[in-house]
Amino acid sequence: MSFALDILLEGVPLLSDRGTLGWCSVSLISCNGKRILFDTGSYSDRSLLLEKLALLGLKTANIDLIFLSHFHYDHVINTEIFTESQIIISEREYRYIMTEEYKSVSDPFVPISFISALKKRFVLVSEGTRIVEGLRVIMLPGHTPGSMGLLVEDEGILFAGDAVKNAFEFREKRAPSSFLSEGEAIESYEKIAAYAQIVIPGHDLPFSIASSTEINYLTKRTPVRLRIYSQPEGSGKTIELFEE
Ligand SMILES: [Zn+2]
Repeated sequence: MSFALDILLEGVPLLSDRGTLGWCSVSLISCNGKRILFDTGSYSDRSLLLEKLALLGLKTANIDLIFLSHFHYDHVINTEIFTESQIIISEREYRYIMTEEYKSVSDPFVPISFISALKKRFVLVSEGTRIVEGLRVIMLPGHTPGSMGLLVEDEGILFAGDAVKNAFEFREKRAPSSFLSEGEAIESYEKIAAYAQIVIPGHDLPFSIASSTEINYLTKRTPVRLRIYSQPEGSGKTIELFEE
């Protein structure tokens, strides 16, 4: 099996009281001749995402498949620029958005107009579907009913979407915000531990789950610089997150 992974956008574990920032992991998986983008990020990610693809000599048309871990805006919005790719979504998530079940649980993160814009290109999958030889769908309900991960079978690497938002919550067995149920989200954690050695979370760096007490990140975090323009002299101020 040929397999290569590029994390184009790192997940950032950050919350604000102004609302979610939604900086999720966006990964390019090259496997057995197919290029798969795992999640696509939101508007604020678009220019950086295109830049990262260009650095690899790629355009949006070079992506064969878009794999959506679930249908929340921060993972879905940039799907609209990959006009030639098939869009993989779980049957259960499809039902969640098509029957407006998301409204009954007051899930505010579903980008409603994107459902009709994208649905013609949906390819529905479920537990065990191999989207390419060596890449298997693992259903991870809890955060949303149809949340799913993608397991690289030979490597024990699991792309988890928001079934695991960050390494801290996973280690603490603390469920992510759950529009289905926290109980099922915790069961999904147990399923992940049974299948994978390495997890790529929705909003954090890849980590190894070899230890249940320590967090073993596998890559170094890129600092995030925030520029604030509230200074009276207008010069602004820079705050660097995750500085050493
Ligand atoms: Zn989400």
